[in-house]
Amino acid sequence: MNYHRFDCIIVGAGGAGMMAALESSKHVGTAVVSKLYPTRSHTGAAQGGIAAALSNLEDDSWENHAYDTIKGGDFLVDQTAAEILCREAVECIYDLEHMGLPFDRTADGRISQRRFGGHTKPNPIYDPAAPPGTEAAKPRIPVMRACHAADRTGHMILQTLYQQCIKQGVTFFDEYHMLDLIMEDGECRGIVAIEIATGELHTFHAKSVLLATGGFGRMFKVSSNAFALTGDGPAIAYRHGLPLEDMEFYQFHPTGIYRLGILLSEACRGDGGVMFNGKGERFMEVYAPNLKDLASRDVCSRSIYQEVRAGRGVGGKDFVYLDIRAETINKYKTSPTGGTVDSAWVEKRLPDIIDFARTYLGVDPIKEPMPIQPTAHYAMGGIPTNVHGQVLRDSAGTVVPGLFSAGESACVSVHGGNRLGTNSLVDLVVFGRRAGRSMAQHALNRQFEPLPPNPQAPTAAAVEALLARPRGEPWVRIRDEMQQTMMDDCGVYRTAETLTRARDKIAALKVRYASVGVADKGSVFNTGLLEVLELGCLLDLAEATVACALARKESRGGHSREDFPDRDDANFFKHSLVYSAGASETRVEYKDVDVIMVEKNGEMVTKYPLEIRKY
Ligand SMILES: Cc1cc2nc3c(=O)[nH]c(=O)nc-3n(C[C@H](O)[C@H](O)[C@H](O)COP(=O)(O)OP(=O)(O)OC[C@H]3O[C@@H](n4cnc5c(N)ncnc54)[C@H](O)[C@@H]3O)c2cc1C
Repeated sequence: MNYHRFDCIIVGAGGAGMMAALESSKHVGTAVVSKLYPTRSHTGAAQGGIAAALSNLEDDSWENHAYDTIKGGDFLVDQTAAEILCREAVECIYDLEHMGLPFDRTADGRISQRRFGGHTKPNPIYDPAAPPGTEAAKPRIPVMRACHAADRTGHMILQTLYQQCIKQGVTFFDEYHMLDLIMEDGECRGIVAIEIATGELHTFHAKSVLLATGGFGRMFKVSSNAFALTGDGPAIAYRHGLPLEDMEFYQFHPTGIYRLGILLSEACRGDGGVMFNGKGERFMEVYAPNLKDLASRDVCSRSIYQEVRAGRGVGGKDFVYLDIRAETINKYKTSPTGGTVDSAWVEKRLPDIIDFARTYLGVDPIKEPMPIQPTAHYAMGGIPTNVHGQVLRDSAGTVVPGLFSAGESACVSVHGGNRLGTNSLVDLVVFGRRAGRSMAQHALNRQFEPLPPNPQAPTAAAVEALLARPRGEPWVRIRDEMQQTMMDDCGVYRTAETLTRARDKIAALKVRYASVGVADKGSVFNTGLLEVLELGCLLDLAEATVACALARKESRGGHSREDFPDRDDANFFKHSLVYSAGASETRVEYKDVDVIMVEKNGEMVTKYPLEIRKY
């Protein structure tokens, strides 16, 4: 048996995993296990920026950031966690800067910041009596909060963290794919992984295990997510009887390249880009009179769907335009400073985006607008954790000893029903670091507990059975049908009818999946085998997502039920927890949202009162 022993095993070499590794390895032995070569993790694809209230270009505060985060999440955010996120963001950005991250700079040498959707500050000239549409009528105005390195911010973060991990002596197992957790007596004692190059299984014995496996956008047909984002961590936890939180909240980013889903960062609009319908109208003026194109993502995505449904897509089709031409930015006075810009400025701010459009669309965004449609982008839900990254097994907050999660695979929950742009990267560094710290602490206080006899046996049996089966139905057909179903019936808009159809379809696909085989029976780089196993994870997460979406009879954040169009705080101001209950059966429970209470005039009141969300 290939056996390895480390105090801390971290599964995933994205921003969350590597930030945790940097922290835990200061104190205890740490290894990172990653199915991708570390610098190929999806964090490296993040474009627009990372949020922190540094006040480098204008006055800002972490309190502004916390308010925006809670409102952006349609009040489903856990408030203590959100305050931690926004306070610790500032310190984390300076840590990254000191590690050598090459941020863009302001004229006086400080970290440069840009605008992003939903990030605001109070308007100093606000007057409730001012005529609508005037500057003074806006209670809040956009603020420059997103720290950036052109439109390659995630790339710079990932490279910086990887260099630091190497320098600090973290051990890496590159291209090792985790297939199972080792759970014994209700606690986690390690993982089983397959070495992709050889097909051999390896047992990793640990005191603390972190799941930082990223998102699962590959559940949907049109997605900004890389092919590897198949939610292995959450799916494996779910199979071990652990709950998943808020799975119905999946974010569609408004500006994906038409049909391909490749992301065109919100930085396009932060830097002044504007969306137009087929009639050349700036439609966001109707849906979000204040912030317009800088409203939150769920609002913008729904607005695009409404325009398309009303026949106002470009040429009557299902897309609209994103326009970042300098002449448009100048005409609508949307540049960050309100002043005029030229094409060279746009090219310097958004080099990768412009390159994507030229390469994948054959469109030159300096000269013409880009066709866009909403693209499946980010999982607000995931493995429930507390603010120390410890995984929770129930609504009472009982900790699973030895198991931790951070990053997109986790749900702390700082994003609630809808995440603000640039708040994921900051979630990775703040809660990745916290998880690393508590993993080390857990490891320092414990012995290695014995593993069950032959811990690889269940995984070996599953892999052998899959290899032994005749090829049968092509697995890609099952994947395509799942992606189409999730896109059509569990996408931006849902109803009981579409969701029931999706539930039955996913259950049928799971039955068909149980008899697929693989063509390649070999052991060396058998990527076909791994893709089938990844599809199994996506099917489980699709089942969990649909179950939560069906149970939540309200509209909130990224979850829009056309049959229940309003937010229903009386019945659904709570997180959902979904458990697997046997073959395609699920059980949905609820847990309270964490609310901060403060004293006001001798009375205890909520610090962030519920309000109707308008932009
Ligand atoms: C195109 C794009 C642009 C984005 N832009 C921004 C932005 O500007 N600002 C922002 O805040 N957010 C942005 N996001 C969101 C953000 O980038 C992600 O949410 C975040 O990077 C996720 O980081 P992570 O560390 O959780 O996981 P990832 O970076 O996705 O890494 C996951 C890791 O898990 C490993 N892994 C997965 N499964 C297994 C397994 N079974 N065994 C072993 N290893 C496994 C992978 O190898 C990988 O190393 C963007 C996302 C996309 C897709």
